[in-house]
Amino acid sequence: MHGKEKAVARAFARQLAASVRVPAGIDTDALGTFTGEIPRVGTMVEAARAKALLAMQVTGLRCGLGSEGSFGPHPHIPFIPCDTELLLFVDKINEIEICETLVTHRTNYQSCKCHTGEDISDFLKSIRFPEHAVVVTPSAPSMEILPIKGISSSVDLSEAILHASHASSDRAVQIVTDMRAHLNPTRMAVIRALANRLARRLATRCPQCGAPGFGVVDIARGRPCGWCGEPTQMAIAKVFRCAKCTLETHVSINGVPKTADPGSCENCNP
Ligand SMILES: [Zn+2]
Ligand SMILES: [Zn+2]
Repeated sequence: MHGKEKAVARAFARQLAASVRVPAGIDTDALGTFTGEIPRVGTMVEAARAKALLAMQVTGLRCGLGSEGSFGPHPHIPFIPCDTELLLFVDKINEIEICETLVTHRTNYQSCKCHTGEDISDFLKSIRFPEHAVVVTPSAPSMEILPIKGISSSVDLSEAILHASHASSDRAVQIVTDMRAHLNPTRMAVIRALANRLARRLATRCPQCGAPGFGVVDIARGRPCGWCGEPTQMAIAKVFRCAKCTLETHVSINGVPKTADPGSCENCNP
C-alpha cells in the first residue's frame, strides 16, 4: 500500500534475479497503522509474517516478503529518535524464513504541538517538509475526529491545523511526521538499504546443505578479560546460522582485540 516495492525490487533483481510483485487488493492497514486507529497485534516479526503470508495467499506464490517499521527513542541514546526496520522473507519451497533488521538514527521522526497561526517553520524545516508528509491530530481531543494524514503542502497543513484545533479542548494540535514509506523518503532509503542486506543474505547458500539465507543471526559474547581471563559480556564473534539445517559457525569480528578491558570484567571491576 505504501510503495515499498520500489525500495526492494532492485536489490532482488540484482542479487537474486527475482522480481517483486505487489498483490492487488490487500489492505495492510487492517493489520495495524502507525497513527494507532488500528493497533498492530503481536511483535514486529509476527506482523511482517502476517503480511507475507497474506501476500502469498493472494498471489498464489510460494515466496513472500513482509515489512514492518517502528519509531521511538533510540534504545541506547534517549532523546535521539530511531527507526527500527524489519524485512521478513517466507520461503515455502525450502521451508525457511529469513529475517533482517536495521536500527538507525537516520530518521526525521518527530512531533510538535502548536496553535493556529503559530510559526512552526523551524520544525517543518527540521523534518524536511513538504518532501516528508505530516499527520495532524487535536492535542486534547474534545470530540472524535480521525487523524488528518499525508499532508504535504502548506495550504493543506494550515487547513488541517484549523480543523483539528476546533476538535481540541486547548485549541492546540499535535503535528507528527507521517512515517508511511511513500510519504517519507528518508524511511524509504533505510528500507532500500535493508532490502540490499536481505537480498545479499538470500544469495548466500549454506555451505553444508545449500539452503539460501546463510548469514549472521547473533553476536557471541564472552571475550576473556585481559587481567584474569574470565569471560566478559564483550562481543567475541559473529554467529552465522543456516535457516534450514543445524550448521552454526562463529567468525571473529575484524579489528576486535583478543582480550577485553578489565573495566568490563565482573571479576576485576564488580
Ligand atoms: Zn577480569
Ligand atoms: Zn544448512
